[in-house]
Amino acid sequence: MTSDVTLERIKPLLEKVERALPEAIRLRHEIHANPCVSGHEAPTAALVAAALGFADAPDVAGGRVIRIGASSGPSVAIRAELDALPIREETAAPWSSSNDAMHACGHDVHLAALVAVAHALADEAIPMVALLQPKEESVPGGALDMVKSGALQTAQVQAVIGAHVHPRIRAGEFSSFPGIMNASSDEFTVVIQGRGGHGAYPHATADPVLAAASVITALQQIISRRTDPMEPAVITVGSIHSGIAPNAIPDDAILTGTIRTYDPAHREALHELIMETVGHAAAIHGCTVAIDLRRGEPALENDARLAIRLSEWAQLGGAIQSEPLRSCGADDFAFYGQVVPSVMAFVGSGSGSAAEPELHSARFLPSDEIIREVARVMIAGYLAACDQM
Ligand SMILES: [Zn+2]
Repeated sequence: MTSDVTLERIKPLLEKVERALPEAIRLRHEIHANPCVSGHEAPTAALVAAALGFADAPDVAGGRVIRIGASSGPSVAIRAELDALPIREETAAPWSSSNDAMHACGHDVHLAALVAVAHALADEAIPMVALLQPKEESVPGGALDMVKSGALQTAQVQAVIGAHVHPRIRAGEFSSFPGIMNASSDEFTVVIQGRGGHGAYPHATADPVLAAASVITALQQIISRRTDPMEPAVITVGSIHSGIAPNAIPDDAILTGTIRTYDPAHREALHELIMETVGHAAAIHGCTVAIDLRRGEPALENDARLAIRLSEWAQLGGAIQSEPLRSCGADDFAFYGQVVPSVMAFVGSGSGSAAEPELHSARFLPSDEIIREVARVMIAGYLAACDQM
C-alpha cells in the first residue's frame, strides 16, 4: 500500500521527536562519556534498552532487538550501532570520555536519535523495531551476527533503515540514493617466508624484506593495470613487520591490508589476482607466501524504492538532499540488505570547513543538534518502508 507523501503525516511525528530531544541529548552525553569498544557493549546496550522502556529485553548476539508497539505483525527496523573506538578523546566536551575509548564515529548520536524516534513512533500502527547492534567497527561486523540470530524474522522485520552522521555533508543536508554507496571490505595477512642471514651476504639468503617491497608494489599495479578504471577498487597495505637489526636479513615478513570493491564479481576476480600476484612477486626473490584472506562485509546497496521514498519524506520534513556521497568506506549494515530491503542515509554534521575533523578522529564531535537531523531521516526511512507494506 502506498500512501501520499504529505506534511500532515510526517509533521506530528517530527513534533514528537522535538519533545523527546532534551532527554535524548542527556542520554547522548551519558553514552558518550561511557564508551564501550566492539565486543564489550553490554553496558551501552543495557542503558539504551532501559531508555526505550525495555530494560529486560534479552541479549541478542551482544545487542538488542526491541519491538516498539504492537507485539505481532510486520515491522520496520531502525539500526543504531552500540560500539565506540579505541581512541583517546581530544574534544573539550564536558561529557568527554576518559577511558581511552571514544564515540568518534557518531554512534552516540545515532543511539540518542533512535530513542527519540522510538518515542515518536510508539503509537504507530506498524511497529518499529529498535535494532541495537554491536561490533560495527569490527570485521566482519555485528550485523552478520544479528542476521544469523534469526531475530529479524522473529520480529517480522520487513525493512531495515540506517542513518550515519557524516562531516563531509553540511548539517541540515543528507545523502541517500538507489544503488551502491559503500564498498565491500575484506582483509588479508601475507606471511612471506624467506631465509635469513648476514646483511653483507645477501646472495646466501632469500630476502623477505625486498620480497615485501615487491609484493606491495605489485598489489598497487593490480589496481592500476589489471582492473577496469571505471570500477572502484582499493588495495591498501596497512602494516609491515619484519626484522630488527640493520645488518641482518630476517627470516620472514608479515603484511596486512584491506581490499575494497563495489561489484561482487569484481571482488572475486580481485581476490584471485591478489593470490596469484603475491605468490609470483615473492617467488622472484626466492621466498614463499602464506595468504590468509578474510571476507568482511559485502558492498552496501540501497533498495531503490526505499531510497527514493526516504528522500521524498526527508525533504518534506525539511532536510536538504546533498550530492550523492559514495565511498570505498564500508559498513556492516550491508548484511541487512542481503536478507530484507534496506536503506542507509548519510546525515550531514559538517560546517563546510576544510578543517572539519573526520569520522574516527579524536576531535570528531557532532553537535547535539545533529540528533534531530538523524531522527528526521530515520522517521523518513520508517515512513518510506511503511509505504511499501
Ligand atoms: Zn560508524
